[in-house]
Amino acid sequence: MPQKLTWIDEELQNLQESGLYNKIRTLSSPQGAWLVVDGKRVLNFCSNNYLGLANHPRVVAAAQEAMAQYGVGPGAVRTIAGTMDLHLQLEKRMAAFKRVEDAITFQSGFTANTGTIPALVGKGDMIFSDELNHASIIDGCRLSGATITRYAHADSASLEAAIGEHKGTYRRGLIITDGVFSMDGDFPPLDKIVEVAESHDLMLMVDDAHGEGVLGEGGRGIVDHFKLHGRVDVEVGTFSKAFGVVGGVVAGNARIIEWLRQRGRPFLFSSAVTVPDVAATLASVDILEESTALVDKLWSNASFFKREMQALGFDTGKSMTPITPVMLGEVTLAREFSRRLYAENVFAMALGYPTVPVGLARIRVMISATHTDADLEQALQAFAKVGKDLGVIA
Ligand SMILES: *Cc1c(COP(=O)(O)O)cnc(C)c1O
Repeated sequence: MPQKLTWIDEELQNLQESGLYNKIRTLSSPQGAWLVVDGKRVLNFCSNNYLGLANHPRVVAAAQEAMAQYGVGPGAVRTIAGTMDLHLQLEKRMAAFKRVEDAITFQSGFTANTGTIPALVGKGDMIFSDELNHASIIDGCRLSGATITRYAHADSASLEAAIGEHKGTYRRGLIITDGVFSMDGDFPPLDKIVEVAESHDLMLMVDDAHGEGVLGEGGRGIVDHFKLHGRVDVEVGTFSKAFGVVGGVVAGNARIIEWLRQRGRPFLFSSAVTVPDVAATLASVDILEESTALVDKLWSNASFFKREMQALGFDTGKSMTPITPVMLGEVTLAREFSRRLYAENVFAMALGYPTVPVGLARIRVMISATHTDADLEQALQAFAKVGKDLGVIA
């Protein structure tokens, strides 16, 4: 018997024993306020489908109509087989939506990061990175070969100190931060970070995956929220969250976007997202541009839920957005809490180490515009019951 793969069994066993093994639940319904999970109907507080666009009739219809005209697949990478006018249309629309000079699309937010960062910096350059940045930023930074200096989370003074400490030791410099941090639902003081970037003439990149469709006027993102148009060089985004589809986007300075068309490796060596993806995303942009109703509903749902949870005695942490962590401390408690919520037909994820620091385990509640008042009331009742049963609240 060859032994060369037994290490995998051991590693999987380790994951099982340390409680880090991912068990994935199977859905047999669209993403929405309610889901059918493993055959059971539950209230959904796990998805990033903030506005309900993943299953919006106009979005679905747009995908179907586009397939009738263009088929499904893009055929090859865009630089070789040519690019469909649909993809160009989406890039134009996104630049306008974000109120920036230009935009380029990628296959996902993940590839947008791993494509953009190595195109901007390389060996001999320096990245200043928020210590809680997303995994795809971390991978993009490592791929680039640049030196990585982490600064304290959302702390412009720590950033300034890190820049001072490394002055003169590198060629180009790039500051990178998440727009909204998905574990705590907080966002950085981008106005102060922009000032630091400008005073040292450093490039600035924001990954606004959880901010687009959520923050700013009608969901235009964190740059719009702080009114910093033209002062953030490059914004990475995703179509897989509030836009309800899949795909990545990089928007910002026209020179950077042009450079990414020449040097963004996932753009050059991987095919674009499919026709229904692009058409569906275009419909989502239409919906966002026509009205702020969905974004407004998202925020009113979020503030209602957070206020009521706090009134019940729960700690909702540092949340500044519809992402609502319910801080519980020990991971065993968080897991038990999530199990009991599920028994009450409420699907909300427990997060523990290493996703969040030791002792800061939590349930993360993802609020959506599609939750009705009755849905939120039902969830609050379930949280109150489980919280009392487990001695989290009085
Ligand atoms: C979700 C997320 C991504 C990845 O987006 P995908 O389009 O799903 O690949 C990248 N960055 C951040 C900050 C995210 O939250």
